[in-house]
Amino acid sequence: MQITIIGAGLAGCEAAWQAAREGCDVTLYEMKPQRFSPAHESENLAELVCSNSLRGAGMNNAVGCLKEELRRIGSLFIEAADATAVPAGGALAVDRDEFSRYVSAKIGAEPNINLIRKEVTRLPDAGITILASGPLTSDPLASDLARLTGSEQLYFYDAIAPIVEADSIDYDIAWRASRYDKGGADYLNCPLNREEYASFVQALLDADKVAGREFEKLIHFEGCMPIEEMAARGPQTLSLGR
Ligand SMILES: Cc1cc2nc3c(=O)[nH]c(=O)nc-3n(C[C@H](O)[C@H](O)[C@H](O)COP(=O)(O)OP(=O)(O)OC[C@H]3O[C@@H](n4cnc5c(N)ncnc54)[C@H](O)[C@@H]3O)c2cc1C
Repeated sequence: MQITIIGAGLAGCEAAWQAAREGCDVTLYEMKPQRFSPAHESENLAELVCSNSLRGAGMNNAVGCLKEELRRIGSLFIEAADATAVPAGGALAVDRDEFSRYVSAKIGAEPNINLIRKEVTRLPDAGITILASGPLTSDPLASDLARLTGSEQLYFYDAIAPIVEADSIDYDIAWRASRYDKGGADYLNCPLNREEYASFVQALLDADKVAGREFEKLIHFEGCMPIEEMAARGPQTLSLGR
């Protein structure tokens, strides 16, 4: 069976891998490096554009159980995550570069997958197609999709997590410790006294913000809130963590 997959991100690579393992003939399209979305910057496949944490790894919570299920059904995504894990207490977190290099190598070596580095601008008219071009699908393809679904069905808004350079941190002040007493001392802690905390919150409130675009309805995902939105909800909100 011949399958076309558009987008070699997390979903597209997993789909390609599973289909190929079942003996399907897979054509996998990826627009990088010809074209990059505003958030992607590496040529590798399965690029993690934001957090490198895949959340809880333990069997005592739903996300950990889901990962174990994926492990048992031979998920490439989890295989790569386990192979490139970095210490993160009770969570499964990965080295993002190693992770996408690992997935790229596996996809590249799979004989049933033909990877084509090309932007797809129109949905194929026939054949089995998996559209896995993600939340930042390129504009021509998104327009073609809107032709079928109506543009009011397409919506995406997200906050991007800031990345702090490790060598910019003063380790005389910050210290390593576990999070919620789980696992090793894998997290950096930055202490703030009452005044410092208050001025941190104020600085967030006063800071320049990226304005939403005209078409964006700013509906936040409560599990992944922008820090300035949390600060705006009240002076103590940030102190309760996430
Ligand atoms: C700014 C931002 C922050 C995010 N933060 C988080 C987070 O912290 N945690 C979380 O779980 N999720 C986060 N997400 C969501 C995250 O994108 C998804 O979890 C995950 O990447 C979705 O996987 P995917 O395979 O659907 O899409 P992607 O990983 O985005 O992969 C889609 C692939 O398709 C390619 N592509 C796009 N259009 C075309 C085209 N026309 N032709 C060919 N190739 C194309 C892209 O180059 C890309 O490689 C964030 C997303 C964004 C944009």
